Amino acid sequence: MRNPAGVECHFYYEDYHRGREHRECRLIARNRVSERWTPKLCQTCPVPRILQANACPHMILEARVGRRFGLLRRVRVEAFCTRQMSEVTDPMVGCGECHRHRPGAAILGLDGG
Ligand code: SF4
Repeated sequence: MRNPAGVECHFYYEDYHRGREHRECRLIARNRVSERWTPKLCQTCPVPRILQANACPHMILEARVGRRFGLLRRVRVEAFCTRQMSEVTDPMVGCGECHRHRPGAAILGLDGG
């Protein structure tokens, strides 16, 4: 579904059916310690770009609303690999472990050897 910034986002949900006016970020809604989501946050949120760059089925995202310089509200994202059971430092790229086992990885030097 297209988010309020006009970008496709897997986690955005809206319902305007029969006079309803409901908009929600289902990723941030999962995080109970996050500040409240507002549609404006989608404008700078990195999640759609992460999902476009990395479709790894083993990577899960967690997001919360944080403040930059104590003022600007921004979406902060953390990623975790359920296969390696480790934090993913760069969600745009992933942990890199799956790349090692793909056919041709040795030729491209991705197998670590
Ligand atoms: S805040 Fe980010 S993850 Fe949530 S709906 Fe907007 S773009 Fe998607």
